[in-house]
Amino acid sequence: MSESVPSKPRVRFAPSPTGYLHVGGVRTAIFNYLFARKHGGTFILRIDDTDTKRNLEEAVKIIIDGMKWVGLDWDEGPGKGGSVGPYYQSQRFDKYKAAAEKLEKSGRAYWAKKQIGDKLPDWKIEKMKKAGKWDDDLAKAAQDPNPALYFKIHEGEPQDIVFEDAVWGRYSRPADVLNDYVLLRGDGTPTYNFATVCDDIEMGITHIIRGEDHLANTPKQINLYKALGAPLPQFAHLPMIHNDKGEKISKRRDPVAVTLYEACGLLPEALFNFMALLGWSPGDDRELLTKDEMIAAFSLDRIKLAPAQFTLTRKRDLPPESTDNERAAWLAESLPGTKLEWMNGEYMKKLPIGALLERVRPFMDGHGYDMKKFAPERLEQIVKLEQERARTLRQLSENLRLFFVAPSAYDPKAVEKVLKKNDGLALLKEVRAMLDAQADWSPHALEEALKQFVEAKNTKFGNVAQPIRVALSGATVSPPIHDTLALLGRDESLARIDRALLIP
Ligand code: GLU
Repeated sequence: MSESVPSKPRVRFAPSPTGYLHVGGVRTAIFNYLFARKHGGTFILRIDDTDTKRNLEEAVKIIIDGMKWVGLDWDEGPGKGGSVGPYYQSQRFDKYKAAAEKLEKSGRAYWAKKQIGDKLPDWKIEKMKKAGKWDDDLAKAAQDPNPALYFKIHEGEPQDIVFEDAVWGRYSRPADVLNDYVLLRGDGTPTYNFATVCDDIEMGITHIIRGEDHLANTPKQINLYKALGAPLPQFAHLPMIHNDKGEKISKRRDPVAVTLYEACGLLPEALFNFMALLGWSPGDDRELLTKDEMIAAFSLDRIKLAPAQFTLTRKRDLPPESTDNERAAWLAESLPGTKLEWMNGEYMKKLPIGALLERVRPFMDGHGYDMKKFAPERLEQIVKLEQERARTLRQLSENLRLFFVAPSAYDPKAVEKVLKKNDGLALLKEVRAMLDAQADWSPHALEEALKQFVEAKNTKFGNVAQPIRVALSGATVSPPIHDTLALLGRDESLARIDRALLIP
């Protein structure tokens, strides 16, 4: 089924500058972006900063950098301009004031200083919040010594607002829960519902694609559309994203800042692909899709209602007070075996080797590897060794450590199992002599020489390869041993073997 969409739809992603870009927000932005691109529409970035007091510039920069990193380019908004700006809510207060006056004049808004009941106990507030019956704006306005501007629900007006949501279908809010609500606070600042509707109307937004957490706000917003005499947009509320424990992902429990994914060595195009499939599918079983393929296949009616599963292989809980570095380390540890990691590996395999080298370079630099030690061509060959195996840039940079850092210690288990058993050290000594006499140090020649050596010794390949591996890397994992020897170079390889032979 293909939906009917007016020509040139206008959509927006409207993050609040909280100091990080939430991956759930990225998913919302991706859906808006795909929808706009599919229909030749306009994708707007608007900064919902009415509540941001400090470090606005820094917080906006984080959003912009994150959007650019993921590959989400907007048509109107910060840095781009556009005919319906400014694109910062903090710069649009005159517009909210004008809309407020209009509502006041038509009898749909009034200034009042309200007392709302006695102070409720905290547990009751929590309960009301859970039931979606708590109105933070009302509570705050009641505390404020100044009057606030309230939207007036007309007496006798039907309260059970019914609307068609592109994801939820016919959605109706139960009657009698809508009270008059705050539009402007005592200090003149607009509430979220008011600022959002004013902007969405003025910016000509035709489709509002956002998280399900805003479903409960929609009836209030619909009332405002009607009172302001504006046509309703099409709403589409995206399912929540759940973690492996079936809870809504949150900053406390989960790695939500998009920078953590970057720090873990995920490719932005892989994260884009992965996030696009959180709650949407192209209608067939394709999982790896280019951006163009996603655009071509995108449709709001294939967004699922059930919560989207964002599963990590969590081995321990994420301590809520963790630093960013600790969070990134936690994420790196929780990625193995996940779909996201698999997908990233697939994207890494597809990159031309030169491009992969450039992507992994910052991670290698981060480890302090001396990249100038190898000629550019050799560096590419080294990276190539891990292209099929590593699934993140971070893993790739770690797996290549042996090429840049000689082992300063040997894994005691490896020493015990590999060097001390099966004549490991004796074989290492003999293979060292064989290698020393090897004129051709190419991977192929080394592979042949090692095979012949193994045959002559009438032993298993591993009994020869593993001691060399421990000597070169300090541990038992490395790329194929002939490649490792060849790329590390004759002198360095022999020197490392000599050092291992000194192990008592
Ligand atoms: N600033 C709001 C948020 O981040 C925007 C919600 C909306 O899209 O209406 O949740």
